[in-house]
Amino acid sequence: MRLILLGPPGAGKGTQAARLVEKHGIPQLSTGDMLRAAVKAGTPVGLQAKAVMESGGLVSDEIVVGIIADRIQEADARKGFILDGFPRTVAQAQALDAMLAKNAMKLDAIVELKVDENALLARIEKRARETLEAGGTVRADDNPEAFKKRLDAYRAQTAPVSGYYAGKGALKTVDGMAPIDAVTKALDAALAG
Ligand code: AMP
Repeated sequence: MRLILLGPPGAGKGTQAARLVEKHGIPQLSTGDMLRAAVKAGTPVGLQAKAVMESGGLVSDEIVVGIIADRIQEADARKGFILDGFPRTVAQAQALDAMLAKNAMKLDAIVELKVDENALLARIEKRARETLEAGGTVRADDNPEAFKKRLDAYRAQTAPVSGYYAGKGALKTVDGMAPIDAVTKALDAALAG
């Protein structure tokens, strides 16, 4: 199964993707995770991406499209994958269409998690708090200032991606405000139907 999870920062894409990984035995391809790993490792991509990520802006289409083009060809992605955080612009969605066609791959579902924007900042703050309590390192962009910019980027550049897939009749939506288990159930139903 090849699936895209769409939704604003804090919608629960990562949480639900982790559950789908368990259920379907396919990898979660999170461009955010891959970029954070590149920043940590100090690779050329990481060095380019660091400042823009910390401020809450979007990394260039060229960089993320290149990362995904390589990643979907790896052995573990042959059976399928869950895209989390990509595509984030219409240009990325178009590039994805082209690379899937080139690899004779098709998407099975595009699902958007719909969440009330007023709930998002509280969710991000909760994630930061829980990470700290667990002894982890809080993401550099999980703070109110960067979050505001992430939300602006979402509204201006990523929300149109939903329209792009809706226009193709390929978009399903799930209520992301429900409790985590209920969202998982609704997602399973959307994927089955
Ligand atoms: P995420 O973990 O998905 O919230 O992503 C964290 C940050 O990584 C974003 O705020 C962007 O700076 C960058 N990023 C992740 N995915 C993309 C993408 N598809 N396009 C551009 N920037 C991205």
